[in-house]
Amino acid sequence: MIQRYIRDVPDFPKPGILFKDITPLLQSPEGLKEVVSGLAHAVDPSSYELVVGIESRGFIFGTALAHHVGKGFVPIRKPGKLPWKTASESYQLEYGSDRIEIHLDAVKPGQSVLLIDDLLATGGTMEAALRLVRRLGGKPVACSFVIELGFLNGRSKLDTAVHSLIQY
Ligand code: AMP
Repeated sequence: MIQRYIRDVPDFPKPGILFKDITPLLQSPEGLKEVVSGLAHAVDPSSYELVVGIESRGFIFGTALAHHVGKGFVPIRKPGKLPWKTASESYQLEYGSDRIEIHLDAVKPGQSVLLIDDLLATGGTMEAALRLVRRLGGKPVACSFVIELGFLNGRSKLDTAVHSLIQY
């Protein structure tokens, strides 16, 4: 039961948002184990060579999963954080836009990739992450999330297999 480790925080970071706080899940040895093995079972590890995680909570689950299944990990970061040459993609937010970046040599042409983030809302962030991986020649196999806000229908934006451990 991963649900019982997710804390709902109303009006964070701004009024009207019900924030899904995953820190109690990380704090719990059983919760953390359940989520990492859930992600490992959602997509057959023999179908991907690399795990790509999105800043910042995608780093936590992505790295734990990569270690668990014996793969490497690649971070997709907010602008200006990666030290070397990057590719960059922007995406729409409710107000304005944002950008994410990846190192140019992080994914090799033809490499199969599993993408990870903590939560799927509108899907804009993961859609941009898929564009980044494809620009480097990577082959996205699937996107996995711990939480999916199904009522926002973010998965309709994603042209890969989509998995989530809990849906609201
Ligand atoms: P989106 O691009 O709309 O799918 O938003 C996904 C990103 O925003 C993820 O990296 C989430 O961590 C974060 N996010 C969006 N909505 C929430 C929420 N209600 N609670 C926690 N994180 C959220």
